[in-house]
Amino acid sequence: MADAFEGILGQPQVRDFLRASVRSDHITHAYLFLGPAGSNKTASAYALARALLCPESRTAGGGLCGKCDSCARVGRKSHPDVHYMEPAGANGWLIEQVRDIAADVPLAPIQAARKVYILDRVDLMGTSPANAFLKTLEEPPADVVFILLGRTRDTVLPTIASRCQVVPFRHIPPSEAAGIVSQNTGAGSDQARQAIEACGGSLSEAVSFLRESGNERLGFRTRVLTMLASIDRADDWEIVEHARELVRLSRAPLDAVRAHQEREIAEHADFLEKSALRQIEARHKRRLSAKTRECLEQTIHIASSWLRDVMAVCAGTPELVINTDAAPAIHAAAAGADLARLGRALVAIEALQGMLAYNVSPETCMDMLLFEIKDGLNGTSSAS
Ligand SMILES: [Zn+2]
Repeated sequence: MADAFEGILGQPQVRDFLRASVRSDHITHAYLFLGPAGSNKTASAYALARALLCPESRTAGGGLCGKCDSCARVGRKSHPDVHYMEPAGANGWLIEQVRDIAADVPLAPIQAARKVYILDRVDLMGTSPANAFLKTLEEPPADVVFILLGRTRDTVLPTIASRCQVVPFRHIPPSEAAGIVSQNTGAGSDQARQAIEACGGSLSEAVSFLRESGNERLGFRTRVLTMLASIDRADDWEIVEHARELVRLSRAPLDAVRAHQEREIAEHADFLEKSALRQIEARHKRRLSAKTRECLEQTIHIASSWLRDVMAVCAGTPELVINTDAAPAIHAAAAGADLARLGRALVAIEALQGMLAYNVSPETCMDMLLFEIKDGLNGTSSAS
């Protein structure tokens, strides 16, 4: 039975609860999905959005579709009535963002009978934006459903949490996570673990990483690993060139996204008003920059996973190596490396993720990534 909720991997209780809620039409206006990173909250939010917007689900007893045009659009993250937002500020949600949401909420849906707002990391919503949001959250129009995502109960402000139906997500242990990804893609367990690492722990992203047509993402990962294998011998100019190449590769998937968006605009141009089209175009722009960021983040994840492997070998625990297909290079890099210096490099590259959110240019970010790794491996530069 391939309904919209089958996409909720590793969270059987969440899946059953949401499916039952939709079938019995017990939908509340606000959900709070609480769980650690990698517990599949975002994919579950999109699954719920699919079921809520699907025109077939009402006639078919709730959520029993997953394949109509509306479901496909939500799955591609291109439905005009599903709004996904994450904190735009360095320290979390901005009060302007919350005001934008409040102004958007009363507008009628564009295509569906309902609108869904998925707000990520509400544990990063401070008191002022939260206060500006409370009224909207408390009394949204009947056709609006909020799905808020947060890490733990004590990091979400009680004023927010108390206005939502809380849905707890469990931590999925790594071996089980790899099993789930294998099952859904046919990949071996090593490859599944590598894909999960490349996607920063997200199971649903790991599944699409492995399923991507033409194995583009797998090829990208191989290229990053090849670069890393030679980085301790690369001179500064070679590193700068590598960084440019990484940026170029991170932008490659945009062509496919853009082609998709052009088709969508063409389909709608005849019957949508200018203002609605403008909304779609604005969403497309956001999607393009989000996609670039996703690819850059993947590069950082792949690099930090590789560096952790080098550390594992250095520390005498080579059995913990995840990127087994790059084992010879990892062992070679570990041979002359120093554990403390590798640790500092790892901390530095993990901080780059946050810098992407501050709109540091991709070029700068990739430069810093590669130079940090080179320093970590052989400490030739004075920066640390
Ligand atoms: Zn459907």
